[in-house]
Amino acid sequence: MTSFQDFGLADPISRALKEENYVTPTPIQAQTIPFALTGRDVIGIAQTGTGKTASFALPILHRLLENRIRPQPKTCRVLVLSPTRELSGQILDSFNAYGRHVRLSSALAIGGVPMGRQVRSLMQGVDVLVATPGRLLDLVQSNGLKLSSVEFLVLDEADRMLDMGFINDIRKVVAKLPIKRQTLFFSATMPKDIAELADSMLRDPARVAVTPVASTAERITQRIMQVDFSAKPAFLTKLLKDEPINRALVFTRTKHGADKVVKSLAKAGIAANAIHGNKSQNHRERTLAAFRSGEIRTLVATDIAARGIDVDGISHVINFDLPNVPETYVHRIGRTARAGAEGIAISLVAGGEELSYLRDIERLIRVALPREDHRTDAGREAAHAKSPAAPHQHRAGRPGSRPQGARPGNARHGDSRHGDSRHGAGRPGDGQKSSNGSRRRRSGGKPNSAPNDRLEQRPAHGAGKPDGIQGVAFLRRESRPNGNPNRKPYSH
Ligand code: AMP
Repeated sequence: MTSFQDFGLADPISRALKEENYVTPTPIQAQTIPFALTGRDVIGIAQTGTGKTASFALPILHRLLENRIRPQPKTCRVLVLSPTRELSGQILDSFNAYGRHVRLSSALAIGGVPMGRQVRSLMQGVDVLVATPGRLLDLVQSNGLKLSSVEFLVLDEADRMLDMGFINDIRKVVAKLPIKRQTLFFSATMPKDIAELADSMLRDPARVAVTPVASTAERITQRIMQVDFSAKPAFLTKLLKDEPINRALVFTRTKHGADKVVKSLAKAGIAANAIHGNKSQNHRERTLAAFRSGEIRTLVATDIAARGIDVDGISHVINFDLPNVPETYVHRIGRTARAGAEGIAISLVAGGEELSYLRDIERLIRVALPREDHRTDAGREAAHAKSPAAPHQHRAGRPGSRPQGARPGNARHGDSRHGDSRHGAGRPGDGQKSSNGSRRRRSGGKPNSAPNDRLEQRPAHGAGKPDGIQGVAFLRRESRPNGNPNRKPYSH
């Protein structure tokens, strides 16, 4: 398919696509839409940034239009499950944008906000409901929603759901759905647990795939700054003052770490704000809006909280801590150099385990990143003493030392502007619920963590395996206003 016209989508949808300036379907759209339009189940391997949302939203909108019926009270016709609040909001925005010439009702059911408004917005029933699994179950259990009339189910980012411990919730939701429905299932990777889940949910699915990338963005200059652990806050302050920063996104591995960074910056007179899992949804939205508008230049975030954030004009990504999962590094630095811009990624690396994380990253991206050494002699010695003996270890702290398979020197390479990069097989036990029902994530074993300082690091599936993985073009997500002013606003 080389044009959206070839799909034969209903006229109001085609008009909306024209207004969105969509001319050519992306590979995942070209593969998925024809199957989905026939009513067939689809299992798709694709990441965010490939145009995946339209690949399920467009055929579903078309099929809703073919059979216009009023949703029953407290029901939805389309149920989209997504792992995070931000992604859920973006998916709903996409439905509303592509469906702007279609009178559709839609709602969002996400955690972290009071349930009352969501219950009220579901009273009359809605066409499209986008939800995170936990809140969806809460709504069902409190009789705010019945799932008996769902005609279309979309499961987005299934592997993230597994990572975040949602799989049991998903099974519970699926058990309440009508057997006769169309299911569209998307995941960036297909580890065994996800393949099994898909098998249990789909009937004779068509399989489509676009290959993920393993490489970091071409226009990103990556800098590694070796600093003493205790000097990191002062070093960050200096960087933020000296570098030509438009917008900086600073990553920490923990929520507690994010708050500490904000406090130390405030002391140095730099206004920054943090977003992480302990902040309310309202706070996250206000903070993001302030970051987008340029009111605050520095945003400090954990990996989970940053998921789904798509802000243009981030000139610098600064890793205050290195992530313990190398794919997360690729994901983090992909937040800069979007929309054709150049970007700088600076990582502050102390000794000990951070050096082994750095080696894992270099092995994944196949580049030896040149190090800039800003350590004191004492810091250098301490780092050396702490450095764990890793298998395949190349000598730390020496510019030009090469991890296995790494290309030397050049820190700018690759082929993607993606929001994400994961591959390989899942680890059994990832993301299961703990006995008290709280979500458990794999801990990275950061030293000196406070007891409530839960790591927000999400595990990636297996070791990186860049070989044979080809790059695909990734698209930028624009934030769009909701198209139809008459449409019932969705509740947050
Ligand atoms: P997604 O992977 O669904 O998050 O989409 C990433 C971005 O690509 C979003 O901003 C979409 O609006 C945009 N997009 C999706 N499909 C197309 C297309 N066929 N042409 C141009 N932009 C697109």
